[in-house]
Amino acid sequence: MERRKFIKNTALGLSVPFWLTSCHSDFLNGNDFPISVSSLAQSGHLIKNVLNLRISKKRQTETLIVGGGLAGIAAAHTLNYNDYLLLELDDRYGGSSSANDYQGVAVGRGAHYDLAYPANYGEEVLKMFEQLKIIEYQAWSDSWSFKDRQHLIPAARRQQCFQNGDFRKSVMPITEASKKLMEVLRPFEGRMILPTRLTPVDIQYLDKMTFNSFLNDQNIDKHPDFRKLIDYQMLDDYGGTSQQVSALAGIHYYTCRPYQKQYVELFSAPEGNQYFANKIHQQLSSHKILNQHLVYHIEKKGAGYLVNALDIIQNQRLEIQTDAIIYAGQKHSLPYIAPKIYSPFNENVYAPWMVVNILTKQKPNNFGFWQNEYLDSESGFLGFIDSSVQYQGNLKGLHCLTGYYCLKPEHRSQLLTVEDHKDRIVNETLSYISFMIKKPIRPEAAFINVMGHAMSVPTPHYLFNTYPEIGNFKFAGADTGRLPLLFEAIDSGIMAAQSL
Ligand SMILES: Cc1cc2nc3c(=O)[nH]c(=O)nc-3n(C[C@H](O)[C@H](O)[C@H](O)COP(=O)(O)OP(=O)(O)OC[C@H]3O[C@@H](n4cnc5c(N)ncnc54)[C@H](O)[C@@H]3O)c2cc1C
Repeated sequence: MERRKFIKNTALGLSVPFWLTSCHSDFLNGNDFPISVSSLAQSGHLIKNVLNLRISKKRQTETLIVGGGLAGIAAAHTLNYNDYLLLELDDRYGGSSSANDYQGVAVGRGAHYDLAYPANYGEEVLKMFEQLKIIEYQAWSDSWSFKDRQHLIPAARRQQCFQNGDFRKSVMPITEASKKLMEVLRPFEGRMILPTRLTPVDIQYLDKMTFNSFLNDQNIDKHPDFRKLIDYQMLDDYGGTSQQVSALAGIHYYTCRPYQKQYVELFSAPEGNQYFANKIHQQLSSHKILNQHLVYHIEKKGAGYLVNALDIIQNQRLEIQTDAIIYAGQKHSLPYIAPKIYSPFNENVYAPWMVVNILTKQKPNNFGFWQNEYLDSESGFLGFIDSSVQYQGNLKGLHCLTGYYCLKPEHRSQLLTVEDHKDRIVNETLSYISFMIKKPIRPEAAFINVMGHAMSVPTPHYLFNTYPEIGNFKFAGADTGRLPLLFEAIDSGIMAAQSL
């Protein structure tokens, strides 16, 4: 069966994710290469039996940081030599900016890139990145550029876009409709900055409407083919379509850097944004960080907090007395973990994501582009990144093709079934990529990274909320009324630590 028809037949309109639908015969073949699945979804179930465990360790600290994603480690970096303890559920740090390790080669398993920073971005993150030797100021362009220049993606190899069986240069070709869109957005250039907490007050009203309403109000072409291109870009960065994200988020996407006026560096290391996590983590004291520890209960005690955590490896309970908390884990579980602490994030809408790394020894010379966008998916497949375009693209003779799926929130519970269907999921990904590059791929190994609450979609009224102070309980993370971006996550961690 022709590939695109097959995908439509199996996934279109069905209320189950693609790996549970009826399948093509090639899905039935088992794979002869290893496939690893990482998912933290099961960890919630670990706490079922935890109350039967004796408390075997007690600790005391000034500040407990929950979660070792970019926000949590940025908070730890800001606390520096102060007394803190960071607990992270996963066996690594970085959260959605972490990496997989295959035979000593690190490959990004989530966030993959960032772009150079204009000088008017928030000084806190810029200062940290300068100190970490990630960026340096360029007076001639009044902006910050990346120091590890080997990780810059050459302009000519950044992206190609696959639609209706063919490649073209970019998601949005230059047409009358796209020219009109850029004209309407021009007044916002230089005004949409990061972190979004610094957004000028006079344009904050754009957070109160959907991007779709804004586009309609501005008489932007309503043709479904054109709107589909915009929706792809919104899904790719924000996990929601133009009907779901705010006008501010949508406009920010196109105007937060001077794309129309000058060349903007695109930085993507083979280990993805774990590059940034590594730089921060290298400066932290390892004895203050406990991996594979699930924080499962927090309650107020005196002027501070009493925290219970599960050491997953030792199967032991750890009790921590702390003066302050920086909660940098995803907020959906907060009402269960800290039921008596007010959670201002009840309205957060989380998009689930799944990332599939495929390692192959085949020379992908004829792939040629870093980002390969796929516009016709019904299953959530958005395209793939080809490591051969990144520095060290030849990873000890291996090449990594990383496929991305942004899934429907209603499919979240089915993510628990990924382990049982890992062959089918990898075959689906292989099938998409082979269809795009028009040749089969022989994998050496594959990884599937499942993220049920991967990113909080910037829906209207999400940004600029002022939350009531709750003593020494602070929140950090990209899901605290911020755009799902590296700069926002790191800024949130710095801000939380500075506010203690
Ligand atoms: C697929 C994908 C691609 C992305 N690509 C990009 C990109 O290219 N560029 C970009 O700028 N941004 C990208 N993002 C956005 C990215 O999420 C942010 O840049 C940033 O990494 C978010 O960091 P965070 O610390 O806020 O949250 P997270 O990364 O989600 O970290 C939260 C951490 O808390 C831990 N945790 C949660 N609960 C507990 C608990 N109870 N006990 C202990 N630990 C706990 C989790 O295990 C996790 O490690 C992407 C996101 C996704 C999902």
